[in-house]
Amino acid sequence: MNRRILALALAFVSLHLLAWGQEETATKKKKMMKTDEEWAKLLTRPQFMVTRMKATEPAFSGKYVNNHSKGMYHCVCCNSDLFSSKTKFESGTGWPSFWKPVDASAIATEMDYKTEEERVEVLCSTCGAHLGHVFSDGPLPTGLRYCINSLSLRFEKDSNAPATTKKDSAKAKAKAKGKAASKAKDTAESEPKPDASAKKDEAEAKTP
Ligand SMILES: [Zn+2]
Repeated sequence: MNRRILALALAFVSLHLLAWGQEETATKKKKMMKTDEEWAKLLTRPQFMVTRMKATEPAFSGKYVNNHSKGMYHCVCCNSDLFSSKTKFESGTGWPSFWKPVDASAIATEMDYKTEEERVEVLCSTCGAHLGHVFSDGPLPTGLRYCINSLSLRFEKDSNAPATTKKDSAKAKAKAKGKAASKAKDTAESEPKPDASAKKDEAEAKTP
């Protein structure tokens, strides 16, 4: 029990350090600057409201909540790589949840004091799009839960290009089979099994 409290406290402190350390880099790293008017023309109204106005889509309304395909989740605004399907897990919250971004530099974090509960906001480091929030109750190995709005993401499925000739086709098939087997093994090893029962209680209180 004490170990659990200590782990939670450590995760909480590291979250704050993460936000504190990245606030500066977030402003330095911003590469794509557009006005709200420009973004409004490029995005649908719901996408604009979430990414530029920091709205939250209703729980279980997003198209990626139950997406189990392998691939990459990009920023819907600037197309940057943000999260891999390898780090997606079932949080039971109603929003796509990840335990790690594809790269630490892909996202920026900022403290969010808008609600009673002090939260850490997650943004795209390239264009500043609001993505969601990060909490310290995620699964191992990070213990983090990136709670992300589907509306801020664009999913791209892994493409396994089909072989062109019959000869190549047989070869590619054999190769793909081996690859798929090793990939499945990798995924099984890297994907932690989240504790679904523990998450369920918190599901309603947590928003992205
Ligand atoms: Zn972006």
